Amino acid sequence: MGEFDLIARYFTRPPVRALVGVGDDCALLQPRPGTQLAISSDMLVAGRHFFDDVNPEHLGHKALAVNLSDLAACGARPLAFTLALALPEVQEPWLAAFARGLWSLADAHGCELIGGDTTRGPLNICITVLGETEGQPLLRSAARPGDELYVSGTLGDARLALQALQGQQALPPELLAQARQRLEQPTPRVALGLALRGIAHAAIDLSDGLRGDLGHVLKASGVGAVVEAEAAAGLLAAARHPGWRGGASAALEAVLAGGDDYELAFTAPPAAREAVLQAARQTHTPLTRIGRIEAEPGLRVLDAQGRPLPLQATSFDHFKSP
Ligand code: ADP
Ligand code: MG
Repeated sequence: MGEFDLIARYFTRPPVRALVGVGDDCALLQPRPGTQLAISSDMLVAGRHFFDDVNPEHLGHKALAVNLSDLAACGARPLAFTLALALPEVQEPWLAAFARGLWSLADAHGCELIGGDTTRGPLNICITVLGETEGQPLLRSAARPGDELYVSGTLGDARLALQALQGQQALPPELLAQARQRLEQPTPRVALGLALRGIAHAAIDLSDGLRGDLGHVLKASGVGAVVEAEAAAGLLAAARHPGWRGGASAALEAVLAGGDDYELAFTAPPAAREAVLQAARQTHTPLTRIGRIEAEPGLRVLDAQGRPLPLQATSFDHFKSP
């Protein structure tokens, strides 16, 4: 099967919203009047972001999910995406499964594939998503002292699964299955991001761990934050399981160092609390309030008695020397 047959068979559908989709030199989209385009790219490299033998259907899901998560963090509505794919060889069952995972998430969000590039090479998937924002987007730079700090869903389980799969950590099978699902099939919080427009101040999606990603918000906003250790540690789904042997401090560390969770962290003023909870209910998104924003820069994690806990490792950084 050649390059163009492959594109036609697995990655071509008639355009829906796009004026021109796959098949010409450029795709064409007509932005709706009064909207802004939100654009984001994420690349997944075999051996770095996923194991070579990962279930291809999960990989197709995740490649798009991590991109949709960026749209969610800005309060943008998904419109379309492009797919740049390097494949070592054409394996049709692999491609069919990959495409299944990809289309299923794309359809769930009404996000159409409008183009891309296909080449032979070490397995590598780069997706660019396009979304639209109306009015004020959610930005990292908008946190204000006095804001409350919220996180959607659960945190830290993806990292736990990664460590278990790498043999660095033992996990009971049922815990591994649950954590692995978080690693391989994250849920982008698109509906929540949309519902928080006009309510939340700052937002970010959590792809490199709470400590690091929250740090980006604090820096961009010129503020600091206090996080309650107990509330944060409770975000680890595995710790709610009777098979969890790690205790509270390991749970806290997993949550702070985390990574690959693709949940949203956001801030909102106390007066907006009811509106925030309403947005969570309306979008069926679990939400936890874990702290607040303060004027004093830096991140402080407090124990139940209000005493600061020492913070060690930082977040994930591909180019940081050890
Ligand atoms: P060009 O050489 O003009 O850049 P290509 O020959 O690379 O175009 O691709 C042909 C068409 O197929 C283009 O419309 C391109 O956007 C689309 N395309 C290529 N690879 C993919 C892919 N993996 N998924 C979706 N569309 C793709
Ligand atoms: Mg090309």
